[in-house]
Amino acid sequence: MRKFTLLICIFLVQFSFAQRKGYWQQEVDYKMEIDMKEKAYQYDGKMQLKYTNNSGQSLNKVYFHLYFNAFQPGSMMDNRLQNIPDPDKRMATNLGTKDNPKYESRISTLKPDQIGYQKVTSLKQDGKVVSYKVDGTILEVTLAKPIAEGKTSTFEMVWNAQVPEQIRRSGRNSKDGVEFSMAQWYPKMAEFDPEGWHLDEYIGREFFAPFGNFDVTINIGKDYVIGASGELQNPNNVKGYVKNPTIKEQNGKVSWNFKAENIHDFVWAADKEFIVEHAKSKHGVNVYLVYQDNDSSTAWREAMPYALGFFDYNSEHFGQYPWKNYSIIQGGDGGMEYGTATLIAGGKNLESLIGTIFHEAAHSWYQQLFGINETYNEWFDEGFTSYVEQMAHLNVVEKLKVMPSNPNPDAYRGYIALALSGKEEPASLLADYYNTNYAYSLEAYYKGQVLAIQLGYIIGNDNLNKTFLQFYDQWKFKHPSGNDFKRVAEEVSGINLKWYFNLFINTTRKIDYAIEGVNGNTIKLVNNSDFAMPIDLLVEYTDGTKELFYIPLREMRGEKPEENLVEYKGAKRTILEDWFWTKPTYEVKTSKEVKKATIDPTKRLADVNDKNNVFKK
Ligand SMILES: [Zn+2]
Repeated sequence: MRKFTLLICIFLVQFSFAQRKGYWQQEVDYKMEIDMKEKAYQYDGKMQLKYTNNSGQSLNKVYFHLYFNAFQPGSMMDNRLQNIPDPDKRMATNLGTKDNPKYESRISTLKPDQIGYQKVTSLKQDGKVVSYKVDGTILEVTLAKPIAEGKTSTFEMVWNAQVPEQIRRSGRNSKDGVEFSMAQWYPKMAEFDPEGWHLDEYIGREFFAPFGNFDVTINIGKDYVIGASGELQNPNNVKGYVKNPTIKEQNGKVSWNFKAENIHDFVWAADKEFIVEHAKSKHGVNVYLVYQDNDSSTAWREAMPYALGFFDYNSEHFGQYPWKNYSIIQGGDGGMEYGTATLIAGGKNLESLIGTIFHEAAHSWYQQLFGINETYNEWFDEGFTSYVEQMAHLNVVEKLKVMPSNPNPDAYRGYIALALSGKEEPASLLADYYNTNYAYSLEAYYKGQVLAIQLGYIIGNDNLNKTFLQFYDQWKFKHPSGNDFKRVAEEVSGINLKWYFNLFINTTRKIDYAIEGVNGNTIKLVNNSDFAMPIDLLVEYTDGTKELFYIPLREMRGEKPEENLVEYKGAKRTILEDWFWTKPTYEVKTSKEVKKATIDPTKRLADVNDKNNVFKK
């Protein structure tokens, strides 16, 4: 019997970490050339796109995103800005007062020469003309010939585009004065996966697309310097990247060629004032800082060591950064992540610049490397990125040698404020559909981060760290969902986590445990909420000794290992019988007189009312 069990164990270990059977993803291979008409803020583009269908079914249609079309009066994005009670301040003008605001959508006032558009003028599939139609920001293509399973079709597209006023993420003449912030600038093949086509209009939230390779040539006036995704192929012939380049110009223009492998979004920005700084991290990542060299960009000059430290820390704790380069480019209107690059605005304040760099670079894992759909899994995309950012901040900026048990109490404060505000909606809601930006932001950035930290409370912080690395091995360059992360955490810890992910993501239920009282040597605990959790109860006795009672939840079908955390120092751990969610109360019997008892002294349990979590004699 024992031998048999051992064999089963080996079998399980070998196969449980293998790729999920039946998983598939589409592939893209872009070759694009664009010709800038800088004065008109327009460009002409042509593309050759190889699209490989691995879906197991034949496709009769494909779809592209035309994101620039959102920046037109009457678009869904415009209507959203006119009707949401708390529009993004960058996208709306307040015509009222601070206390009595009256917002006007900035898109609603755009003139024809200020709007954004991408107009397709020719589209062929394997040399044959195809028919297509455009609704808002989605281009629907009826194929000349279906793309069979396992086959590749080549699309040839010609289009022209106008770069909109800088309203959100991309545009002309940003607040910092960067002339071209070119994000969402090309017609992008939509994602097709087991959930079907992802055809979300561009309303506000973020981007999702198949992985692939990019070969991008940009013809632009000779005075510009470009920062972009991927690797510059001709640094010796353009401005900014090497000393004394031999600039090759034709009719006043210079051709820039960038190549990028295995990413799903390509960004670039161009400005005449840009300079380029380059350094290599210990782990071998080439980091480029591309920014305007002027009085407003003082922080950029000091940012490089922090950026290098970030990549080294992250490669050790969340999996090796797998690309050669990362470019941090001044542009856009805040911070936004793309394949091997980010656009970041501002740069006077070093702390804020570093914070934004850490956040966007952390998305290189939780968005780009794990191609997460922010629209579907906002808590996973923004929440886990915020967790990674915070861990790197504590290590690289604050230089802490030992991580605190709860790395971000602020995230808990933000989440609990949301949970008690009456405005919370389930984190499983499609990201664009929240009734307020307030609820979206706190749900995605804070509750998502709390989900990760609290997972450490349930499975133990060491298991959480292992889960991140195991998840990297299993899911890099793929499109995992939150469920895939949960499965890895279950495999690493041996603990069932369905109840936790279900309740925390799909509902707005809140956790509230309390110590109801201590009677002699009996401590009575109560769950005042409809959300059951395992309980760590630290007891200090009148004789000065300590004991940590661990009460697993029956649904876990397992126990977390003992944790070596500062709050538990000197306490002997006693594992008690399981508690379960259908039972509201639980009694802990002690052997000695109780002086103090505390539910979760590490504060990783997201208890919305922690005033009743401590008993003191
Ligand atoms: Zn983010």
